[in-house]
Amino acid sequence: MKDMTYFEPRTIAEACMLLDEYEDAKIIAGGQSLIPLLKQRLIEPECLINIKEISELDYIEYDEDLGLRIGALTTHRQIEKSPVIESQCNVLSEMAKVLGDVQVRNVGTIGGSLCHADSVADPAAALMGLGANVKAVDSNGSRIIPIDEFFTDYFETTLQPDELLTEIQIPNPKGRFGGAFKKYSVYERDLAVVNVAVGITLAAGNGIISDVKIALGAVASTPIRAKMAEEKLLSKSVDTEAIVEAAAAASEESQPVSDINFSADHKRELVSVLTRQALETALERAKR
Ligand SMILES: Cc1cc2nc3c(=O)[nH]c(=O)nc-3n(C[C@H](O)[C@H](O)[C@H](O)COP(=O)(O)OP(=O)(O)OC[C@H]3O[C@@H](n4cnc5c(N)ncnc54)[C@H](O)[C@@H]3O)c2cc1C
Repeated sequence: MKDMTYFEPRTIAEACMLLDEYEDAKIIAGGQSLIPLLKQRLIEPECLINIKEISELDYIEYDEDLGLRIGALTTHRQIEKSPVIESQCNVLSEMAKVLGDVQVRNVGTIGGSLCHADSVADPAAALMGLGANVKAVDSNGSRIIPIDEFFTDYFETTLQPDELLTEIQIPNPKGRFGGAFKKYSVYERDLAVVNVAVGITLAAGNGIISDVKIALGAVASTPIRAKMAEEKLLSKSVDTEAIVEAAAAASEESQPVSDINFSADHKRELVSVLTRQALETALERAKR
């Protein structure tokens, strides 16, 4: 690795000042994705800003009005083990349990995963299924970005070079909510070949779906919402036939590319199977 100027700021404000000062700076959190890129010299920033000592970025908080708020430095392991997340948003616990191995989960952070913006990442799809927002801060203030608008291309986000991702916000669902996360990978706890997250809300008093989000990972340049599939379910009382139709629509909407292990057609089939499973699980949970 080439020599770099290295900083360990203790506050968000300090980190933002450094991002302003150094044009060619890179944030490092857990380093799980960044260090391999540095080692292979795929990136050679002038300055490295290690944010691991910023304690104000490390929290999991729940509020009945605001919902769940997770600091960007929260590790996958903290998410997996958090009783608050388990009780308020078990899709995230479910997702974190199958993300990498325990060593990766102990060090990798949710903010780092989102900013790395690999379309196969598990947190991104799960958060899309939950309708999350993220908060970005720079020295002039902050802005809230809906997760659907955060990813722009392979490994690209809407985050500006002087911005720090600070928080993930998951609103409280209104009504009877059920969510599910399904993943297929070649090896257990490996990166996804396909992942699917679903969030369903049933209107109070009847079985009508008042809101549904279906998020697909690893089948396009960014994680995507399967909007055609969602439309097939919205405002309906859902049966098996509707679920199969929605799963087929999700498969049609996906744009996977063939790789060394799987053809694009095989991945489309996986989208259909996982979407169907996720919808069934989410509906069952919403009814409960
Ligand atoms: C062996 C292995 C297996 C894995 N398996 C999986 C898996 O099954 N599923 C899965 O989803 N992922 C998997 N990953 C990926 C990994 O979990 C994530 O990419 C990782 O959590 C990224 O977080 P980090 O804190 O290490 O980020 P870093 O590597 O430190 O940073 C990643 C990128 O984000 C930027 N960044 C980090 N934090 C911020 C911030 N707060 N604001 C602005 N920019 C920021 C950095 O500049 C960098 O560009 C695996 C990784 C490894 C090494």
